[in-house]
Amino acid sequence: MLKTDVIVIGAGVVGLAVARKFALEGRETIVLEAESSFGQGVSSRNSEVIHAGLYYPPGSLKARVCRLGRDLLYDYCQSRDIAHKKIGKWLVANGETQEAKLEHIRQTAIANGCLDLSWIDAAEVAEREPELRATRVLNSPSTGIVDSHGLMLALLADLENAGGTVVYASPVLKGELSGGKLVLGVGGVSDCKISAPTIVNAAGLESTALATLLGSGKVPDIPKKGFAKGNYFSLSGKSPFARLIYPVPEPGGLGVHLTLDLQGRARFGPDVQWVDKPSYEVDESRKEQFARAIREYWPNCDAKRLSPDYAGIRPKIGRADEPDFCVQDAREHGLPGLVNLFGIESPGLTSSLALAEHIFLKN
Ligand SMILES: Cc1cc2nc3c(=O)[nH]c(=O)nc-3n(C[C@H](O)[C@H](O)[C@H](O)COP(=O)(O)OP(=O)(O)OC[C@H]3O[C@@H](n4cnc5c(N)ncnc54)[C@H](O)[C@@H]3O)c2cc1C
Repeated sequence: MLKTDVIVIGAGVVGLAVARKFALEGRETIVLEAESSFGQGVSSRNSEVIHAGLYYPPGSLKARVCRLGRDLLYDYCQSRDIAHKKIGKWLVANGETQEAKLEHIRQTAIANGCLDLSWIDAAEVAEREPELRATRVLNSPSTGIVDSHGLMLALLADLENAGGTVVYASPVLKGELSGGKLVLGVGGVSDCKISAPTIVNAAGLESTALATLLGSGKVPDIPKKGFAKGNYFSLSGKSPFARLIYPVPEPGGLGVHLTLDLQGRARFGPDVQWVDKPSYEVDESRKEQFARAIREYWPNCDAKRLSPDYAGIRPKIGRADEPDFCVQDAREHGLPGLVNLFGIESPGLTSSLALAEHIFLKN
């Protein structure tokens, strides 16, 4: 049987950030990844937004790691030359009801330590973003975008330079207790068994199913409604806006918003579509629905400029629309040394470096 100090299951952005942290702190670290490359799961199917940390309930793990994670991420991108841009985001209200919702978000953001928000009135909106329909806008200058692949490459390089390894095509299939220790059964080209005093389950969408296979107690429910797919439509031609544009949030997601990639191309989404099984095809027939939602804040949206792009699946847990991140250790599930990460949906990319700190400090 193989032994090491730390095993991380899953080479997405969170698994790589956690493994990097342990390796930098001098612990021998191995990442086991089912696929033949890193970042093939949720980490390559998201909006690549560095969230400022506005929405999450104050004191929740999400609120804490997003707020800290965003600062760590900007510093890391700067120091490692990872493409990113603090492009800013406008939250758009049309009418008194939505303005009141934005005020509520502003109060939550302040409680989360986001102190740089400002109001923009309709006259200034018309001057700065003439295509935008808004009675009032809440400006978040600390929101940005990042090259998520570049970020994962940098995390991987740090991990390897610190002596850590990612072993690809190595799915963890089961776990068993032996001599009071959790031993993993790994498949792939040649089966093997491996154990470590610290094992982090960062398997994204698979983490709840895997935790059950490993023998964890108290695995959270996944939503009965199925999988919360998020579809994106890209916009041909020039972007009508110079920054990220968000409507007020909807249950389960942030509303059909406009994000820009680092080349300035615009895309809309993700929406929230509950599906029975994971699928990544974007149904063209959703276009009109998208166009309707977009016209709420961009009346000139021409549906002909929209094309189906990619989709992602949110690793949701529990019954609430916005459950907190769940980091579970032996006190909760009873398996020695195992840390389960559940429900790491948005803002998991933004929070990855802070989640790594959080997990390291407890293990
Ligand atoms: C539509 C959408 C938009 C989003 N937008 C943003 C955003 O703009 N900003 C932001 O901060 N966050 C965003 N997120 C959230 C962010 O993408 C995720 O929180 C983050 O990528 C999760 O990373 P992860 O490493 O936990 O999971 P993953 O990237 O899914 O990695 C898990 C890895 O585990 C591997 N694995 C699974 N089972 C096994 C096994 N048995 N053995 C070995 N390996 C296994 C998988 O192959 C995979 O590589 C978004 C998410 C979605 C779905």
